[in-house]
Amino acid sequence: MSICTAAMIALALGAADDAMTYREAKSRIPVRELPTFWIGDVAGLAARLERIERGTVRVIARSPGGRPLHLVAFGTPEPVARAANFNSAIGARDASAYLDKSARTKPVVYFIGPVHGHEIEALTGLVNLIEVIETGRDLRGTEQPALRALADQCRILIVPDANPDGIARFEPRALYGMDGRDLRFWGQGTWADDSLCGWPECKALHPMAGPRVGFVGCYFNDAGVNPMHDEFTAPMGPEAPSLLEVAREEGPDLAVSLHSFEAAPALLRPAYVTTEVQEQARALAAAYYVLLEERGLPHGGLPNVVPEGGLHPAPFNLASAVYHVSGATVFTFECPHGLTSEKACAVDLEQILDIQLTLYEAMLRFALDAIASGKPGS
Ligand SMILES: [Zn+2]
Repeated sequence: MSICTAAMIALALGAADDAMTYREAKSRIPVRELPTFWIGDVAGLAARLERIERGTVRVIARSPGGRPLHLVAFGTPEPVARAANFNSAIGARDASAYLDKSARTKPVVYFIGPVHGHEIEALTGLVNLIEVIETGRDLRGTEQPALRALADQCRILIVPDANPDGIARFEPRALYGMDGRDLRFWGQGTWADDSLCGWPECKALHPMAGPRVGFVGCYFNDAGVNPMHDEFTAPMGPEAPSLLEVAREEGPDLAVSLHSFEAAPALLRPAYVTTEVQEQARALAAAYYVLLEERGLPHGGLPNVVPEGGLHPAPFNLASAVYHVSGATVFTFECPHGLTSEKACAVDLEQILDIQLTLYEAMLRFALDAIASGKPGS
């Protein structure tokens, strides 16, 4: 075989590997029945949330596809003095001018569910957390007394469906047992020639709309907007501004944007926040990883505290924006999907739920410890 022929075969194989039609993607979805504790869709979610008794539920926005984003809140809000928006308060060298967090007796913890619709693990996690707070048991029927007792000492804010259009478009309902190509198809989508957009190239067209686009991945709402990378001062979609409004109004001490990827569970370094907030995220990660180890669950590395910069600096994303409107210690969390790929973190659906619930437990402990030591929020 000539070098040229080998190269052409490699090219052809590469092209096949990098392309997928919608029909092929559908045919690759395993025939299976997902367990009842697994929440893989926004269908039925509104009816489920209507049954909440211990908390309140409110629609904070509607997606371009007409789907609601819900805010579920538990614990009575504590009204405290506020006189300025956060960045003006920082300019005044007095964060309490925005909101006097030290006057509150309970921490406020904010959970932002999947803004990327295929990263469904957090929808399952958050609906199970709601069930624990409501009944003391998760949707498996497992008693969760420690998690519930922690939650009852906090004000909890949960948006389980932060990108309902993307979630609705995600037909597999779980990427567990599928592989990296499925992740790329359902997550980032395809170009018009059926080639997979992939990450991070899928971010080079925004909104993801127009003649270049094939299948719109679940990163995006029905207008092609990725809420993680909205234009925060001139919003392109309704999701990010409504999520930020919750942060601005409530002034959480601790907040998370919940995502998923191929590797072991990891807290990512929040970008464009103070080094103190980065250190808080690192300390929380360390405490969380200890809990995971105790429970025989995997974890990734600790986020480092580093300044912004370099050839490819981190983007100012939704998590960064949450800090800049509320002063929250905020971070992005990545949960494994349970993909079959060789380099993927191998976990099953129950372990994914445990990884989620353990994160929430670590966060609540951390927020309660901070308020007990007199250092709430930032
Ligand atoms: Zn994501």
